[in-house]
Amino acid sequence: MDPGSRHDLLTVVVAAHDEVEALPLLHPRIRDALARVDGLRTRVLYVDDGSGDGTWEVLRGIAVADPQVALLRLSRNFGKEAALTAGLDRVTEGAAMILDADGQDPPELIPEFVARWREGWDDVYGTRVAREGEGWLKRATAAAFYRVMRRLSHTPVPADTGDYRLLSPRLLAALRELRERHRFMKGLFGWVGFNRIALPYRRAPRLAGRSKFGLWRLWNLALEGITSFSTAPLRVATYVGLFTALAAFVGGMTVVAKTLLWGDPVAGWPTMMVVILFLGGVQLIALGMIGEYLGRLYDEAKRRPIYLVDAWQPAAAGVSCPGQPSEGGGHAHGASTAGGQAG
Ligand code: UDP
Ligand code: MG
Repeated sequence: MDPGSRHDLLTVVVAAHDEVEALPLLHPRIRDALARVDGLRTRVLYVDDGSGDGTWEVLRGIAVADPQVALLRLSRNFGKEAALTAGLDRVTEGAAMILDADGQDPPELIPEFVARWREGWDDVYGTRVAREGEGWLKRATAAAFYRVMRRLSHTPVPADTGDYRLLSPRLLAALRELRERHRFMKGLFGWVGFNRIALPYRRAPRLAGRSKFGLWRLWNLALEGITSFSTAPLRVATYVGLFTALAAFVGGMTVVAKTLLWGDPVAGWPTMMVVILFLGGVQLIALGMIGEYLGRLYDEAKRRPIYLVDAWQPAAAGVSCPGQPSEGGGHAHGASTAGGQAG
């Protein structure tokens, strides 16, 4: 049987960094949502991205109570993109559904994602119709970023779309081929292609805790996106240079003409300073742009692993039989505090 036409195994991948409070609230919701999908074996894979607040202990508790939970812990905080990569690398069979650990991506919609997957879509991505709990600045900068991205790059990165999506087995296989160190996941999902469809949803506020993506981190993520998927900024220097040279030529001709016709005395110290400073600035900006690419090239050349694994714990049950939910799985979240002793 063609493995691409099988729709019976789904792994929910959740990257978590310092999410002690949110995870115990989120897990029962994921379980309830998965219980509503027929004929599907399911797993939940939590990736602890170097948390320092007891997230791992909470996850151990969840796994003790729920045999369908697999756990992966990275050796330190590698960032969300690396954590997702680590999680998706472990989904070697079936499809993967990516969720945020903070409850902003409602697990209740999983059955709808699965329905689209069964219709034959490879990348079912959630598009935000509302961004509750996000300030105007974050919204405005996000909108500007997607506009720039669309102009500069041929890779489709749909606006108002995060990592909340379901990926088909063949898309996952393609994604695993991309081993670049600087990973802008939203761009990578678009780059691999296949069939994609949007699924609109309301983005909820965080269940607990604070966002790890402040403005500075988002700015760096935006730089990552642009430099990973476009070399257009490198061309800017060429055009600015051409334009400046043209202007200088025209300016030079006027100076010569004026001197020949009227014998103008030497003047214009201020204009000279302005021109020198302007050109100096433009050159530094161009150098900086080259530097952005050179630095990334350097990182890629070192070929360090994208992430390192500290602990891997596969789901105890492997996978559950369809239509026969494991006993007590959905009710045992009260045990999460006892999980600290489990390992
Ligand atoms: N996250 C992660 N590693 C990090 C930072 C964040 O795995 O270094 C996870 C985090 O636990 C959450 C998701 O990425 O599940 C999104 O993070 P956050 O909610 O802080 O970002 P926002 O939703 O505000 O964009
Ligand atoms: Mg969030």
